[in-house]
Amino acid sequence: MTRDTLHRPLKHLRLSVTDRCNLRCSYCMPEAEYAWLARPDVLTFEELVFVADRFAALGVDTIRLTGGEPLVRQDLSTLVQLLAARPWLRDLALTTNGVLLAEQAQALKDAGLKRITVSIDTLVPARFKALTRRDSHGAVLAGIHEAVRVGFPQGLKLDTVVLRGVNDGELVPLLDFAGAMNAELRFIEYMDVGGATRWKREDVVSRAEVLERLTNAFGRLEPLDGRGAAPAERFRLPDGRTFGVIASTTQPFCGSCDRARVTADGTFFTCLYATAGLDLKTALRRGDSVEAMEALIRDRWTGRRDRGAEDRLAMRDRGPLVSAAQLKQEPRLEMHTRGG
Ligand code: SAM
Ligand code: SF4
Ligand code: SF4
Repeated sequence: MTRDTLHRPLKHLRLSVTDRCNLRCSYCMPEAEYAWLARPDVLTFEELVFVADRFAALGVDTIRLTGGEPLVRQDLSTLVQLLAARPWLRDLALTTNGVLLAEQAQALKDAGLKRITVSIDTLVPARFKALTRRDSHGAVLAGIHEAVRVGFPQGLKLDTVVLRGVNDGELVPLLDFAGAMNAELRFIEYMDVGGATRWKREDVVSRAEVLERLTNAFGRLEPLDGRGAAPAERFRLPDGRTFGVIASTTQPFCGSCDRARVTADGTFFTCLYATAGLDLKTALRRGDSVEAMEALIRDRWTGRRDRGAEDRLAMRDRGPLVSAAQLKQEPRLEMHTRGG
């Protein structure tokens, strides 16, 4: 087990397979233009698996594939198949915006994907278009229905970023929709991560507010135990349905954070808010030994002190983490590059 300076183990790897995306969510990609990772820098599937194996040697047993939008990466199910065959793998998940899911869900399941999380912020097509600048609401709903039909062995989750004045009137309809899909919904607080260049404190609908609104709608909410290092706190409604809240902004959970992030070009970040990453691609492509690569990752993790969201919470004047101009210079600071 590899532990950092705060005794947090390295367990969970969020592997970003692309920085490209087919949506432009206002809380993640609000700008008109983006600087992209250079195509030749993006790791091949073989390289991604090699990197995953190095993390596994240091304790990682859970992988979540993310992006950008992971399903825009050509032939993603081949990568799923390669990873699913790793003997060390305990859990393999994917986070997607669902736009391309209808056509890929079966192949992903057949390749060995265990569970899937689809981001859905609204049930109203016009609101979806305003929020994402794309007319893909029908495709997302079709993707969710197909995921239900295919049936992932460890189930389906739906994630909703709650934005004041945008979709905060939809908490109950979204819960009903999740119930109809036999999925668990998680409400996510709007975070001031890199890329969220329009973030304002007033736009955050806090965990406390979400719980208050749901208590008013349904009655007493029962907190469920067993959160462990998971970001979501889970609750049960009086009618038995469960849901989660990810309070990254108002009640961060850095103390138990066991998550490493690797961008599609092989840059290793120890925190969603970290402003510097470690380049693994150069070592990989120059043919450094397995031991040397693992030492590189181990050293970075054992020196880890990050408590990014807690540090942000302690700030008085809180605005966007990184300016749009800085993001143009360093796209690895973008949420859509490091994978959320
Ligand atoms: N494109 C895929 C998707 O949207 O599910 C995967 C990548 S996306 C960066 C991963 C997650 O980060 C999504 O659930 C998205 O809603 C969330 N996210 C992006 N920007 C956020 C922000 N500023 N605050 C909170 N969550 C955010
Ligand atoms: Fe939206 Fe995900 Fe794309 Fe960001 S990466 S713009 S959250 S779909
Ligand atoms: Fe982990 Fe950083 Fe998020 Fe805290 S802010 S939970 S340390 S990734």
